[in-house]
Amino acid sequence: MSGKKYDYLLETLNAAQRQAVASSAGPILVLSGAGSGKTRVLTYRIAYLIERGGIRADNILAVTFTNKAAQEMQERLSRLVPYGASRFNYHDGLWVGTFHSICARILRLHADRLGFSRQFSIYDSEDQLGLIRQIVAELNVPTDKLSPGAIHHRISRAKNGLQTASQFAEASGDFRDEIIARVYALYQQRLRENNAMDFDDLLIYPLELFRQHTEILANYTQRFRHILVDEFQDTNRTQYLFLRALAARDRNVFAVGDDDQSIYRWRGAEVRNILDFEQDFPDCKVFRLEQNYRSTRNILEAAHSVIVKNHQRLPKKLWTEREAGEPVALLEAENEFHEAQIILDKITEEISHHNGGTSSRSFRDFAILYRTNAQSRVIEDTLRRAGIPYVIVGGLRFYERKEVKDVLAYMRLAANPADAVSLRRIINYPLRGIGETTIKKLEEFARVNNLTLLKALGGVGEIPTIKAGSRDKVLAFYNFIDRYASLKNQLSLLEWANALVDATGIVRLLKSENALERVENINEVLRSIHEYAGQFRDATIEGYLERVSLITDIDRWDEKSNAVTLMTLHSAKGLEFPIIFISGLEEGLFPLIRTGDVDSDLEEERRLFYVGTTRAKEKLFLSYAATRSRFTGNAKGLTYNNNLPSRFLAELDQRFVQRESVRRPRAFETHEAEGGKYFGHEQAMPDYENESQENEIQIGKMVKHPQFGLGEILAVDGKGENLKLTIAFEKVGTKKILVQYGNLQIL
Ligand code: ATP
Ligand code: MG
Repeated sequence: MSGKKYDYLLETLNAAQRQAVASSAGPILVLSGAGSGKTRVLTYRIAYLIERGGIRADNILAVTFTNKAAQEMQERLSRLVPYGASRFNYHDGLWVGTFHSICARILRLHADRLGFSRQFSIYDSEDQLGLIRQIVAELNVPTDKLSPGAIHHRISRAKNGLQTASQFAEASGDFRDEIIARVYALYQQRLRENNAMDFDDLLIYPLELFRQHTEILANYTQRFRHILVDEFQDTNRTQYLFLRALAARDRNVFAVGDDDQSIYRWRGAEVRNILDFEQDFPDCKVFRLEQNYRSTRNILEAAHSVIVKNHQRLPKKLWTEREAGEPVALLEAENEFHEAQIILDKITEEISHHNGGTSSRSFRDFAILYRTNAQSRVIEDTLRRAGIPYVIVGGLRFYERKEVKDVLAYMRLAANPADAVSLRRIINYPLRGIGETTIKKLEEFARVNNLTLLKALGGVGEIPTIKAGSRDKVLAFYNFIDRYASLKNQLSLLEWANALVDATGIVRLLKSENALERVENINEVLRSIHEYAGQFRDATIEGYLERVSLITDIDRWDEKSNAVTLMTLHSAKGLEFPIIFISGLEEGLFPLIRTGDVDSDLEEERRLFYVGTTRAKEKLFLSYAATRSRFTGNAKGLTYNNNLPSRFLAELDQRFVQRESVRRPRAFETHEAEGGKYFGHEQAMPDYENESQENEIQIGKMVKHPQFGLGEILAVDGKGENLKLTIAFEKVGTKKILVQYGNLQIL
């Protein structure tokens, strides 16, 4: 052991942090506010256990909130602990990951014990909803009374609360619940038949595995002598039980969290876990860190002055050695376009101002946070027009794009032949003349003979009602999948994937449709397989598909690229930036509360505000717009809401805040002149607030778009917020424009 290195480890910590890091074994809870070094302490604790405690890396399990955080922790550790990089290889040594990835890994190893094969698919929310829709249709559920989405939500809730379908049925109250119970039971059965699990299953099945096979649990409790969890306040019940099961033997759990940053209660996270922890582990040591290293004093005080308004919280206050810094700036805008413009102005101002002086600022120093994804659109447009590089975390996830999912469905089916959801997705895409009636017959045949859907395809010859023409098409598809299922073991992963993608014909189809961006996305899938295969010696398609299923928005965010980051407040958890903007601070938007919400919902919003403000290291800007347009989704089209400033702004201790005077920026006026939609307070609301806009939208009408100029409407599709126009623009050719976002002026 390098003693010097070890000293260095503890030297960079304050006394309280050091105590937590160097504490003797046993249950430990580190409870403290934002930026006090919890994540740092957790990372150093691992390094300390290895360096000082002589604990082997593979005896340690660390749980992070995102895959990205896991990767960062691994990188950090390989720098902290000398000649140990290989020990932090996820595969051989230390296990670091999210609950979902750790559980998936355990399940892969023991799936057979639960009646699944190792190749099980992981269904994302779209797959899950698709399956529920199918079941709902099968059971003739009246969807006007119960939407598939609502059913899905209730099922997931029940699963999260560890309520099985039969328990749910027993507890069910009204006729709706009875229907949900039937869908739930069939849903679980179908998942099993498809050799598939949803996200909730990933957390639940390990508990079942441990309960049924105590020898397997014993194996893990022996292996994981030390368990560490970050963001403990956002664990849900199932995750807590999982931890408790694994820690049953040695009881070395090191949990760090902040009750003020619990922002996932709506998803079932329970702060109760913090209380239970102290009960389940009565000898647990509790550490509190009180020094904040992230933010200036003004930011810290401002954040504190709001969070103390919550009743449900453990009292605590952070202090900092840092300078007061500039006051928190409050920016008042006239509407959302103006707000975006002000933010843009601030960014340019900061950059030019700072870069003249001693320190310099780059785009990556800025993050713009918002409550709902929809708010990003206007900000994005404004930055794009100004030529400012930006990245958006969220929106439609890469792996949720249609063409990406299509290609992955082929891979999934070849890897897991039982996966009927994937099969259904691609059996007739690209078109190969297999119709819905034929598919229904195949499904029926599969059910009667207790076969997987793919096997039923292979046995299509035995279904007399399917005619010879269709039969050959079905057989051709079956042989195609079968061939790639066996080629999987003969080719390298990348060769196989390349060949499969090529053979599907999807790329050729998309090229013929001139959908080049989609082709690019498919290439990106192949690139990511290449990358994955290079990373792991034992790369398999199942492993790749699992990673893809568990990837989240934030994991794909590359903070090294020099761009402004746009993301929701939820995504920003755990991160820090020199300069933070929080936009849309308006009653009804942030806090985002609906009628019928209770105090606890407001408190959760306030915690989210606390999370947002405490991301800032040097400067914090808070903005709101006096009016904001909202698309109602019905014939009314756009309406403009007058907003009250968020109550959080009033709650801020004004000593740390400075209101900036509002001026109407130049660019703002320019857009107004060209688009007609950018308007200030004093001006009349545009005419299309009512039905007249929808009436005006007709084929043949001329329109003006702020970016693309003049054009003629060729086609009108969809309704409400999906109202889409195909427009032939004079300069840029034909484009499809969503009216909601298009800023169109009808001439
Ligand atoms: P959050 O609650 O937002 O997750 P946290 O409590 O996990 O925050 P960290 O992210 O670990 O806090 O630390 C916040 C910042 O302070 C980081 O940049 C970290 O490197 C720095 N920091 C923490 N402790 C120290 C220390 N003792 N000396 C110097 N810098 C520190
Ligand atoms: Mg942290």
